[in-house]
Amino acid sequence: MSVNYAAGLSPYPDKGKCGLPEIFDPPDELEKKIHQLADLIQNSFNVVFHTGAGISTASGIPDFRGPNGVWTMEERGLVPKFDTTFENARPSKTHMALLELHRVGILHFLVSQNIDGLHVRSGFPRDKLAELHGNMFVEECMKCGKQYVRDTVVGTMGLKPTGRLCDVSKHRGLRSCRGKLMDTILDWEDSLPNRDLNLASEASRRASLSITLGTSLQIKPSGDLPLLTKKKGGKLVIVNLQPTKHDRQADLRIHGYVDEVITKLMKLLGLEIPEWTGPLVVESAEQQVAKPLTKAGTDLPFLSKEE
Ligand SMILES: [Zn+2]
Repeated sequence: MSVNYAAGLSPYPDKGKCGLPEIFDPPDELEKKIHQLADLIQNSFNVVFHTGAGISTASGIPDFRGPNGVWTMEERGLVPKFDTTFENARPSKTHMALLELHRVGILHFLVSQNIDGLHVRSGFPRDKLAELHGNMFVEECMKCGKQYVRDTVVGTMGLKPTGRLCDVSKHRGLRSCRGKLMDTILDWEDSLPNRDLNLASEASRRASLSITLGTSLQIKPSGDLPLLTKKKGGKLVIVNLQPTKHDRQADLRIHGYVDEVITKLMKLLGLEIPEWTGPLVVESAEQQVAKPLTKAGTDLPFLSKEE
């Protein structure tokens, strides 16, 4: 499927500020700020990262409000450029660094507004991740809530039935649930998934440091979650090229390419960025057991026409 997921959403007039000019910190200032960030991280007991579309542009997926973002182009009557498909997109250096930051105990929780599925496909443990706006590869049973992570995008958007049925076994495997599966991609007016929003809010409140990467923080409530950390006395760092809605609240603002900032940060922390070896799903940080992704449509009963 094309990555032009925006075309699958309802029209919506107020998409926020688009196409604001990008700011680049001069090299020595950038260097100094990344050192400050490393110090802040080393002095924090609980760090939460918040990611937006800006971390996936290096993977070939356009952002929304950047100079060539989906909504910016739409405003100008232009068509955004997609360099890849969701299935072929590779996690960026930033996606992979976040795995390592979690593995060594620095990152406590990851909150993402991204629907591209790259955090999950990179192998980030799903129980330490909130995907506030859904995931193109995930479908969920409308009856029992079971989620399936697929190896291809599930095919619909806006919480619609995907045409497949749940195969969770009930009654000692004698009967399966057969609830209808739906996609998890929110349309403009949809409310956020409860589980993810609760986990993200709780994690943001508990954090002593929230770091936002590649988001203009304009979408509510997702963009406001990092402020919960501030309210509880914690600190806020914003890494983004464009100005964001909450710049004034930030203890540190870094204007540079996210991959560049994170690569330098990892070096300062003495950490390696792991190589990506292909898509996989890790359900829980405790178990760290990677499962292959299930193919959509091959292992599940389809809805018959009458249903
Ligand atoms: Zn079910």
